[in-house]
Amino acid sequence: MDLADTQKRSLFLFTNDLRVQDNSALLQAAKSAEALHCITVSETTPLAPNRYGFKDIGTHRQRFMDESRLDLQRDLSALSQSLVVLRGDPAIQIQKEIDQYEITQVFRSRNAGWNEQQYWAALQQANPEVAFQEFDTHTLFSLDKLPIDISDLPASFSKFRRIAEQSNIDYQPVTIERLPPPLTTSNIAANDSSIAAPTKENTFKGGATSAWQHIDDYFASEHPSTYKINRNALDGWTNSTKFSPWLANGCLGVRALLNRLKVYERDVVQNESTYWIYFELLWREYFQWYAHKHGTSLFRFSGIGSRSPLTSFYPERFKRWTNGNTPYPLVNACMNELSSTGFLSNRGRQIVASCLVNELAVDWRYGAAYFQEVLLDHDVASNWGNWQYIAGVGADPRGGRHFNLEKQTKQFDFDARYRKRWGGNASSTDLDSVDAADWPIA
Ligand SMILES: Cc1cc2nc3c(=O)[nH]c(=O)nc-3n(C[C@H](O)[C@H](O)[C@H](O)COP(=O)(O)OP(=O)(O)OC[C@H]3O[C@@H](n4cnc5c(N)ncnc54)[C@H](O)[C@@H]3O)c2cc1C
Repeated sequence: MDLADTQKRSLFLFTNDLRVQDNSALLQAAKSAEALHCITVSETTPLAPNRYGFKDIGTHRQRFMDESRLDLQRDLSALSQSLVVLRGDPAIQIQKEIDQYEITQVFRSRNAGWNEQQYWAALQQANPEVAFQEFDTHTLFSLDKLPIDISDLPASFSKFRRIAEQSNIDYQPVTIERLPPPLTTSNIAANDSSIAAPTKENTFKGGATSAWQHIDDYFASEHPSTYKINRNALDGWTNSTKFSPWLANGCLGVRALLNRLKVYERDVVQNESTYWIYFELLWREYFQWYAHKHGTSLFRFSGIGSRSPLTSFYPERFKRWTNGNTPYPLVNACMNELSSTGFLSNRGRQIVASCLVNELAVDWRYGAAYFQEVLLDHDVASNWGNWQYIAGVGADPRGGRHFNLEKQTKQFDFDARYRKRWGGNASSTDLDSVDAADWPIA
């Protein structure tokens, strides 16, 4: 495409907003660009393990992201646009595109991830002549409409919730009917056969199309009206909403979702359960702004406070935890479900996180890094924020959570069905095979 130098050559970077509709950042780009180059940087390139020895993205999420990008590509082509998927270091890849296409404006959604903020700042510094703009698409509030200054974000969720509930949330999703023409054509075909078709058991399929199919099914059922009663169950597709993987990578926008929930409340029923779905979305909201406020403290051993937990790193205990081989059958069942599917219920996550920190006395950050690799719905703010909460170094004024494993087993798996299903067997009750001086324990 031959574009005059005076035209606004814009780049749109898709990150955790892999959708066209309800994407206010894309709308802003569409409004001001005369030609638009849509890109995303895939993390498929084998990345060096992080400081905890894990990859930033594992096979479950990789598959989900591949499906999501393919779906996004289809939606973009319906508007005569295309998606270029780049691989490698985002800062280097984006810089190449800026140079090659003489980009004058770059748009993306605001991102709570620290690495994402670092490369964005570096690109801005390296390209002072380019206009960089970010918009809020991952949250209910936008930064400029947040009812409090981010530096005053309360230390507890309850205070935040009370403020949020007194504020007006604009949850009308934006609609995009046309986009400026592309600067180049896509490098993935809409019917790319290299992307494996999901198997039957694959209940989570990436992409806005699957997200909306799931939402339509969920709100066509009676499950929203019983959510509060069933949400803590360990197993079962319909016991909680299962929105999280699509919300995490942005196939689904949280404002459009809230809008759908309000329609259900208006047309079907409004009760404590429907309120509780909203309540959980506010938890998500809180952790997003919490991550923006606390920056690198989200990953610090002592969290947002100054007291470090009385835990350490015990490689053998940690390995037993990740392998589902601890002395605690319920924990083992949860860890087996997590590694085989990439998903675990909220109660399951709380139980295994509490076990790692309390029974096994392991540094919580290793658990968070493991979750980061294996979770289908990994979201940096929700994951690291929840781990801090359980470890007692985050947003919990009560200072951490210790779940009584025996009690949890009786309450949530009284008939041992869940343990049987996920192979939750008891392993040796000795936590360690060697003592502190590395001598075998007889
Ligand atoms: C240690 C730990 C790590 C977690 N890591 C993640 C993560 O990486 N990504 C993630 O999306 N959630 C995370 N959660 C929160 C929660 O477990 C999942 O959002 C939930 O289990 C997903 O299932 P669902 O969609 O059926 O949830 P539902 O119970 O149906 O809740 C509806 C939605 O509300 C949001 N939500 C619910 N509970 C929480 C919560 N405690 N914190 C933040 N948002 C919440 C999610 O977006 C969820 O999809 C974590 C929780 C714990 C205890």
